[in-house]
Amino acid sequence: MHPGKVAIIGGGIAGTAFAQRYRQLGGQVSIHERGGPQHHPGMGFILLANGFEALSSVGRRSAVEKLSYPLTDCTIRDHRGNTLLDEKLEWAHGITRSAFLEALSRGLPESWIRHGQAFSHFESNPNGRVRRAIFENGEQVEADLFLGCDGANSRVRGEIFPTAKLSGSRVIELVSEIESDLLVARTRKRFMKFRHEEGGLALGLVPASRRKLIWYLQFDAEKYSTPEADPGRLESFTRLLTQGWPGPVLQLIQATDFRRTRICHTGALEPLNAYFRENVALLGDAAHAMHSFTSQGVNTAIEDAVLLAETLANSHSSTSRHALTSYSEARKAAIRPLLKLGNTLQDEFLAPPTVDQRIPLATTA
Ligand SMILES: Cc1cc2nc3c(=O)[nH]c(=O)nc-3n(C[C@H](O)[C@H](O)[C@H](O)COP(=O)(O)OP(=O)(O)OC[C@H]3O[C@@H](n4cnc5c(N)ncnc54)[C@H](O)[C@@H]3O)c2cc1C
Repeated sequence: MHPGKVAIIGGGIAGTAFAQRYRQLGGQVSIHERGGPQHHPGMGFILLANGFEALSSVGRRSAVEKLSYPLTDCTIRDHRGNTLLDEKLEWAHGITRSAFLEALSRGLPESWIRHGQAFSHFESNPNGRVRRAIFENGEQVEADLFLGCDGANSRVRGEIFPTAKLSGSRVIELVSEIESDLLVARTRKRFMKFRHEEGGLALGLVPASRRKLIWYLQFDAEKYSTPEADPGRLESFTRLLTQGWPGPVLQLIQATDFRRTRICHTGALEPLNAYFRENVALLGDAAHAMHSFTSQGVNTAIEDAVLLAETLANSHSSTSRHALTSYSEARKAAIRPLLKLGNTLQDEFLAPPTVDQRIPLATTA
């Protein structure tokens, strides 16, 4: 039984995945996205087995697989080039965010998606249930159920849980992408990471297609002051921090257009008691933003979306409360260990690398 009209706020990973799965189950939604049609912030990421499994339920597995790049191994070296870890990856694919969203959203009716609608606030009934969402451009939507899929800095979360805290992260990332068949081929399908021997500084390299390579420089913001978001400064900062690092790092930096390099502040959300209140539910980063070290943000966002769509569609109750409780409890239990692992991986990153390195990903959720 479907709970009536569903309005999704945020058309990123969780919002799009929910819309696809819910559509397959006979439901309808409207998606309200702040950005324009070609708005795909973020460069790319690593898809892991649990995210890929969830994609099967959305029916987008083969479409995504075609656009992604298999990663068979993980190699970690220190900044002098000594190998610290060389291991097979269980199942991992690199993919650009734009390719992923294109494959994920294919087939969704265009009329479901409204771009340029930045959520502002809710208006509620005296009983506390939200009646309508108001957007910054003055437009509004009424619905029976609202889904906050608006990312780590979620405004929807701010409306229903105003005291929820997103920690400022100590680790900042510069993220960039380059196009080079040659450099991708040289990775030999490896996810690679170079770590400074003193800790708190690393450069990761993810082939995301036959042509595209994503790299990210992670640094301890207490040790290094974050540069201004200006291409020249980003380039000199990167060159300074990676001076004398092994050949692949140098080649990467030489091939980079620093106008396409972004500064990303990653943060973690303190665990919420519930992922919903009344008729508003949270999915993805809005519910459980975690340190980027797990590489589970995208993967868990797809899992959230699939579980909530299926729980709502299969619910025998005419109100969504039972379904939302069941969704919230199941996902909190799945996310708890990942939040912990994210903290552990961050601590390990800040310390000098040891000989017993582990793969810097949460390979299973
Ligand atoms: C540098 C970096 C590297 C990362 N690497 C990985 C990785 O390797 N693997 C991985 O799994 N995850 C990774 N992540 C995390 C991943 O990108 C997120 O966890 C994932 O995108 C969460 O999906 P989401 O749908 O919750 O949010 P998003 O995909 O961020 O989507 C949120 C959407 O809401 C929209 N929005 C925001 N505010 C409003 C508003 N007020 N009104 C309307 N719309 C709004 C945004 O425009 C966006 O489209 C990384 C993140 C960063 C920053």
